[in-house]
Amino acid sequence: MGEAVIEVRGLRKRYGAIEAVRGIDLRIERGEVFALLGPNGAGKTTTVEILEGHRTRSGGEVSVLGFDPGRNEVALKERTGIVLQQTGLEPYLTVAETVDMFRGFYPRPLPLEDILEVVGLDEQRDQRVRRLSGGQQRRLDVAVGLAGNPELLFLDEPTTGFDPSARRGAWSMIRNLRTLGKTVLLTTHYLDEAQALADRVAIMVRGEIVAEDTPAGLVAADADAVIRFRAPEGASPPEGLDVRETEEGLLELRTADPTRDLHALTGWALEAGVALEGLVVSRLSLEDVFLRLTGDQDSEEAP
Ligand code: ATP
Repeated sequence: MGEAVIEVRGLRKRYGAIEAVRGIDLRIERGEVFALLGPNGAGKTTTVEILEGHRTRSGGEVSVLGFDPGRNEVALKERTGIVLQQTGLEPYLTVAETVDMFRGFYPRPLPLEDILEVVGLDEQRDQRVRRLSGGQQRRLDVAVGLAGNPELLFLDEPTTGFDPSARRGAWSMIRNLRTLGKTVLLTTHYLDEAQALADRVAIMVRGEIVAEDTPAGLVAADADAVIRFRAPEGASPPEGLDVRETEEGLLELRTADPTRDLHALTGWALEAGVALEGLVVSRLSLEDVFLRLTGDQDSEEAP
């Protein structure tokens, strides 16, 4: 096992009658990109803010870089970077001025050029903040989070509201962070993002961690495959196969025995002269596994 950057045991948080975090354990090692996932209200923000030192806990042990974040020590703050969902940066400063201002707050800042290169803003260095696109502003938020050369970076929903190409750009930026050896704790609502970036993922539901593994491990642990196809109106697949219609209007069948069920399905189609358009058999995606683990719960429901 590598060196633990974050270690959490039995963490609890109550807000009056609501128990938002119910005794979770976590271990995140140096150099890992770790994604914390879960539906709205699962307790992710509460957990992350306790780790950041922005909220108190009701119980359990927490160690971040060997410190207790509850003690609010400057030495810990100098070694962590936090990128919140909304940051208010000065609109009339340039990119370079903004990053330099934040570098000035730390004893051992990362060189300006290195920061701009990692976040991909070298070409915008003299541009004013207010002229940046949404995606570029978010990169600047990350640049500011990196200013003090932190060992650990908290990234809260780094690509929410991005168009697909800006998202890809942000992903390559996060991969660059990995090459710098930074440990990253990422929260995101995008399952493909976690699948693409995270070394390990924890899924939180109602204050508890219900699964924790590599993205590939989570998917592999679920033996099921999905068969998807289209059938002409009125054609009804054989009884005994649990076929459902998806929101996209496809027919979908989840199965632990794809060989048998595919045989039953194609046998029926051949016999009935039905074309199964767009027939695919695939493993579950991380999103499928997530939806299964988090169930059909009302995500806003109180824990
Ligand atoms: P989201 O994905 O929507 O950001 P989350 O997983 O981050 O959700 P939290 O914000 O940690 O969830 O909230 C967990 C639970 O604690 C929710 O039921 C929420 O209503 C409750 N909660 C959060 N903050 C407070 C607070 N300051 N006072 C009272 N209840 C709170």
